[in-house]
Amino acid sequence: MAKPGAPPIVVPKSCESAQQRADLVRVQLLVQKSTKRVLYMEAGKDFVDMLFSFLMLPTGAVIKLISQGLNEWPVGAISNIFKSVDNLNASFMNIGCKDILLSPQPAWGYRASSLLRIQGAESEPTTYYICSNFCKRPGSRTFMTRNLGDLCPTCKYPMTSALTESQEPLSTELESKPAGAGYVKENTTFMITDDMEIFATSTIKSIVLLNKLKVENMSDLDSLEITVGVTQAFQLLRASLTTSSALNDVFAKE
Ligand SMILES: [Zn+2]
Repeated sequence: MAKPGAPPIVVPKSCESAQQRADLVRVQLLVQKSTKRVLYMEAGKDFVDMLFSFLMLPTGAVIKLISQGLNEWPVGAISNIFKSVDNLNASFMNIGCKDILLSPQPAWGYRASSLLRIQGAESEPTTYYICSNFCKRPGSRTFMTRNLGDLCPTCKYPMTSALTESQEPLSTELESKPAGAGYVKENTTFMITDDMEIFATSTIKSIVLLNKLKVENMSDLDSLEITVGVTQAFQLLRASLTTSSALNDVFAKE
């Protein structure tokens, strides 16, 4: 797993700028004082949007993001696939494919959170092309492609009529957030457990959870407000892939 001589991991440019913008999100930790254990977290939309956006990241982007600042590759053999592409001379690959594999675009539907903007998610909206006959499969949707000039599967004419993806859901401006940005609705508080179960906060849920965690003495509990930035977002992504005690891995020392 160690990576002697491995090329330095290139931080995507958009991640650098995200770090420079340094958006911070406030969250509350419920901590057991005697053990310094984080029992659960309470957080709002921005934080939960960030956690949910983990599901939309391509594997290559995940490997790149979670490798930052580490001296060894943090996940199993999949890292070697990434490293092999990085090391392979471009002359062995189809044109442009090395970049595609090393800087994969997030899935269509990725809604960048303020904490986890990645390459492609905040760039120009993707343009798609359809044929001038609007061909579709019976009972299905219109064919489209990302590659200008691909032949329509039905009429075989080149697909050259451009459609542009709406940029609205990708907006990350906190002050002027359009309705529907991100994944969850505003004004809801969520509970997040150490192993990343996420649900809307309720008194009953918190009692059940404290019971499950065998917490008997309420005076042993303390709430702690902290700010989460881009660095912790990457640490959480890494921890959520490699451990079931993600919150404690990242925040227990806070
Ligand atoms: Zn057609």
